[in-house]
Amino acid sequence: MTRKPEAIARMLRDAQTIAICSHVNPDGDTLGSAAAMRLALKKLGKTVSLFCDGKVPDQLAFLPGIGEMSVPTGEEGPFDLMLAVDVSDEKRLGCCAKLLPQCRHTAQIDHHPTNPFFMEENSVDGDAPACCILIREQLAALGIEPDRDMAICLYTGISTDTGNFAFASTNADCFEIMSELMGKGLPLAELNRVLFRERAKPQVLLMGRALNSLQYYEGCRIAVMKLTRRDFDECGALSEHADTLVNFGLDTVGTRMAMLAREGGDGAIKFSLRAKEPDCVSDIAQEFGGGGHPQASGITMYGDLDETVSRVLDAMIRKLNG
Ligand code: 5GP
Ligand code: MN
Repeated sequence: MTRKPEAIARMLRDAQTIAICSHVNPDGDTLGSAAAMRLALKKLGKTVSLFCDGKVPDQLAFLPGIGEMSVPTGEEGPFDLMLAVDVSDEKRLGCCAKLLPQCRHTAQIDHHPTNPFFMEENSVDGDAPACCILIREQLAALGIEPDRDMAICLYTGISTDTGNFAFASTNADCFEIMSELMGKGLPLAELNRVLFRERAKPQVLLMGRALNSLQYYEGCRIAVMKLTRRDFDECGALSEHADTLVNFGLDTVGTRMAMLAREGGDGAIKFSLRAKEPDCVSDIAQEFGGGGHPQASGITMYGDLDETVSRVLDAMIRKLNG
C-alpha cells in the first residue's frame, strides 16, 4: 500500500495544464475516476483534458463531462502533468502513451496490485476495491468537497468495480464513502437501472436465443448454449452482446461447468468456458489451444459449430467424471 495523496496533490497544484488518461477498453472505474478528477481540478482553475485509447461505452455516457474525452493524436501537448487513473501498467495506456514525452511530469493513482510504478509519482493501493476510493481521498487532499456530479462519478467507479457491492473486495470504506455520497443527492435508483439492469435491445433478444438453446448434460452438472451466425444477424447483435450470457448456464443450481459457443462472421467459433470453484476449465481450454483463468477460460476454433461443441463437451464430461 503506497497511497500518496499529498504528493500527488502537490504535483496537481503545481501544474496548470493537466492531461488525465484512462485505460484502454475503458470501464466505469477508470472513466468515473477521470471525470471526478476533471471536475475537482476545474474547481481549482486548472486546464484539464481527458484522454483514452477507446470509445466511452454508451452506458457510461451519463458521466458528467465525459463527452470531452478524446483519443489522442499525439499533437495535443505540451502538458505540465499527465495523471493516469486506474491504469495497471504502461501498456494499458494504449495510444495515450504518445503523450508521455509531451508531459513535463507524470503521476498515477491506481489500485492494481501488479502495478510496476511506471510514473514519476505513484499513488497505488492494491487493496483498494476501486480506483474511485483513492480518488475520494485525493479530493480530500486537494481540499475539495464532492458535489452531486462528483458523487455520480465516484459511485460509478465503486459500484462497477465491486460488482454492485457483491465481490469479496467490497469493504467498509465503500459503505463509508457511500454514506457520504448519498448525502450529496446521489440518484441511486436511476444509476442502478442504467449500470446494472438496462441492456441494449439486441442483447435482450440474444439472451432469449441463448436460453432457448440451453441444454444440460450429466444431470445438470454441465450447461451448454450455442449462438449461430443467424441468431446474431436476426437479433441485430454483435459478438460482444453475448459476453456475459454463459453465466445463465453456470448460475443454475447444481451446474458445475458451463459453455457458450458463438459462431463468428469469419468462420471462427468462440467458446466461453466457466466453472464454479473448485472445478477448473482452463486445462480443458488449453487442450484445444485456448487459455484463461481457472474458472473463466476461452477457446477459438475453426470448423462446424455442432461438431466443435461436441468435442469440447466430451472433454468437459471426461474431466467431470475423471
Ligand atoms: P471470455 O469467455 O470472457 O471471452 O474469456 C474468458 C477468459 O478466457 C479471458 O479472460 C481470456 O483470458 C481467455 N480467453 C478467451 N478466449 C480465448 C482464446 O481464444 N484463447 C486464449 N488463449 N484465451 C482466451
Ligand atoms: Mn478499477
